Amino acid sequence: MKRPARKCPTCRGAVPQRPENAVWPFCSDKCRLSDLGRWLDEDYRIAGERAGDGGGGDPPAEEQEEGT
Ligand SMILES: [Zn+2]
Repeated sequence: MKRPARKCPTCRGAVPQRPENAVWPFCSDKCRLSDLGRWLDEDYRIAGERAGDGGGGDPPAEEQEEGT
């Protein structure tokens, strides 16, 4: 039986077996850091959007005066 080779989440390259791979499931330390940086960047961006969305209190009143 032959297990399919694990693919690196970052570069889709072949990943060395776990016992001899300190950065498993990545193929290299570079890919590990790249993936980690991407996650942190997304997390930061989402947090920033949330902070800026709906945090301004009541919206300014539109023109509701109807002179009748
Ligand atoms: Zn890789």
